[in-house]
Amino acid sequence: PTAPSIMMNGHFASVGDGPASREQYQHGIQVIDEDKNFNPNLSTYLNLESVIPAGFNYHLISVFGSQSTGKSTLLNFLFGTHFGVMSEQERRQTTKGIWMSKNKRAVANGAMADNILVMDVEGTDGRERGEDQDFERKAALFALATSEVLIVNVWEHQVGLYQGANMGLLKTVFEVNLQLFLKDRKTTTRSLLFFVIRDHLATPLANLRATLLQDLSRIWSTLSKPQGLENSKIDDYFDFAFAALPHKLLQPEKFEVEVEKLGGRFREGYKGPRKVGLIEEESAPVFLPEYHRRIPADGFPHYAEGIWDQIVNNKDLDLPTQQELLAQFRCDEISREVMVSFDEAITPQEEKQAEGVRAGKPAVIPELGEVMNKARSDVVTNFEREASRYHKGVYTRKRAELETSVDLRLKALFQGQISAVHKSGVHDFSEAVSTAVKAGQKQGAASYDFAQIVESEKKKSLARFESQVQAAIVESAPWSSYQQELKLYQKELDTVSSRLRKDEMRRLANRVERWVRSRLGESVGLEFNRIGSGRSGSGAPADGEKPATEKDLWDRIWNVFTETVAQAEARFTERARSFDASPDEVEVGLWRLRRKSWVALKDQIAEEVMEGNLLLKLRENFEDKFRYDATGVPRIWRPTDDIEGIYTTSRESTLKLLPLLSRFKLSRTSAPPPLDAWIGSPPSSVSSADEEDLVAIGGVDEEEGKSLEEETTVLSDAKLQDYGVRFKKMADGVYVEAKRSAIGAVAQ
Ligand code: GDP
Ligand code: MG
Repeated sequence: PTAPSIMMNGHFASVGDGPASREQYQHGIQVIDEDKNFNPNLSTYLNLESVIPAGFNYHLISVFGSQSTGKSTLLNFLFGTHFGVMSEQERRQTTKGIWMSKNKRAVANGAMADNILVMDVEGTDGRERGEDQDFERKAALFALATSEVLIVNVWEHQVGLYQGANMGLLKTVFEVNLQLFLKDRKTTTRSLLFFVIRDHLATPLANLRATLLQDLSRIWSTLSKPQGLENSKIDDYFDFAFAALPHKLLQPEKFEVEVEKLGGRFREGYKGPRKVGLIEEESAPVFLPEYHRRIPADGFPHYAEGIWDQIVNNKDLDLPTQQELLAQFRCDEISREVMVSFDEAITPQEEKQAEGVRAGKPAVIPELGEVMNKARSDVVTNFEREASRYHKGVYTRKRAELETSVDLRLKALFQGQISAVHKSGVHDFSEAVSTAVKAGQKQGAASYDFAQIVESEKKKSLARFESQVQAAIVESAPWSSYQQELKLYQKELDTVSSRLRKDEMRRLANRVERWVRSRLGESVGLEFNRIGSGRSGSGAPADGEKPATEKDLWDRIWNVFTETVAQAEARFTERARSFDASPDEVEVGLWRLRRKSWVALKDQIAEEVMEGNLLLKLRENFEDKFRYDATGVPRIWRPTDDIEGIYTTSRESTLKLLPLLSRFKLSRTSAPPPLDAWIGSPPSSVSSADEEDLVAIGGVDEEEGKSLEEETTVLSDAKLQDYGVRFKKMADGVYVEAKRSAIGAVAQ
């Protein structure tokens, strides 16, 4: 291949250029310009060249040497780069500052070194021109801090000229190196100084090498070494290699063959175990892991800029500090990068959850666990992959920071999920119990076991809680425990259960009350019906049963009432016990039952003594006495009969019933039933809710200001009077009719 000879044409990519394109960088990138500015587009360039993702798999070579010694030409031959070279016509310096380009020669397989970057450093003849050596020193520092290999380009005729420009340059390199590594004694980083001797004619390479090595030792020995490094040797820091190239113009073919061979050595990857030290073998590959600066490629632009900033501002260059700063910078950057996909996965979940909370309906997000686990492991893995190449301490700290901030959000999500699972679980539990109870009720009140329904639904609910919460657990997250929450949930289920049991108690109480009511309807009705049969009061009973007198009506009603309620109490107690109602709850239920039963009885009595009903019964009672004789045979009235007498006794007898009916009084005691004692005082555990729907009972609830006397009054005096008058009118009618029928019988 022929070396490209490119005229300076003003199209070089340099500081501050616009959007990236490959053409723009065909000559590489001017990392540092003639005014010592660092090019902010370095990362753009390395991105274009696909070096950024390479990790540690890249190499950096810098070239040094006097101006116009064919350095750029050499690099272009070795690496197929297009660094500007001085044209044969215009003798002026072309390379300004420091240029960088990626190797353009094919890297065929894994045995070859990938991502070789070469830096073309401005040659200086400042020494000869009397310029200060500031830039040279700075460039040397920069190259040493970044490069694995420094190519030193010398003319053969310069070898042995100890006072020559090259030796001055090398002295600078050594000084700068000591300055650098004084701060960084822990690292074992070495550099390879590769001498390329140009326009080689006659002197055997071995001789040239010996001369150069001698000169190098002399330079080293004359250096004033910093404290602590007085006894350091040159090969503590440097390996050396030497190659010679024929005259490019005089022996162009030989030049090309040799330069091609040399290029091969540079492009080879690490091969076999080569020891550090002088490379004598003329075909040995140049790279060694020991030369690598261990700056991950993605951090290189920032690192290089930081280093240059320190150099330009004449600050002490402290590589370990620079590496820590770089690690902080890059770890932060990587954190932000990996958080992008974390946010993409997690933010929608956070919004979903917040939405549910705002709407008062916290939703259980079914796929949350999966999403969280994946997001967390992705974010950590991605961070680890990129950031673990940096300073260990910084990396470990930043990783912990990342995990903390990620976990903070995941934990909040997890807690939100638990609370949604809790809320929906309680709701579902209560619904399930109610549904099962309703289904049971449809099949008959006693056909379901409330306690069992609650027990089995509770079991299901707890299992569902655990499985839903477990599904949201982020593995390896220390906050993923939920025992506390599970206990809380259990507690809440117990609370809901006892509320449901109270409801069930109410339902049971209502059922039992209805039963009492219907029983009373029958039995009390029966007792009142007996009034209709007037003979019950006077005549002997036909079937030998204990003679029922009108006088003990209330005793019988009280008996049948208390018996009925006693039965109801037994039913209530048994059923309530079956679903684990507490003794207190049962006690309150029974107390309520007695009160409500009494009210039911009163209602039933009121029904019986309603005007129409009562008058009908009085009439029946009267007619029974008036129309039938003592043996129960119907009377046929004759004019001779004492119609008037019979009428009067019958009427008076029936009328006696009215005052008896008007007061609920037991004949044994001539007093109202012992309602107070029978109902009993309110249980200590009674609540205001228990009392809410209760009707006040006179003589029992003292503060109501109603006496037992009033409570047991069935008919008021006015009503009594009124009923008496109306009964008499009615009885009069019957009498008149009887009279007429007697006369009628005579007329026939
Ligand atoms: P640089 O300033 O060190 O980068 O030198 P250049 O690569 O720009 O080359 C400077 C001049 O030296 C150009 O005119 C080249 O043609 C010429 N040149 C390049 N290589 C050689 C060589 O091996 N021997 C000689 N004698 N001249 C060369
Ligand atoms: Mg050049």
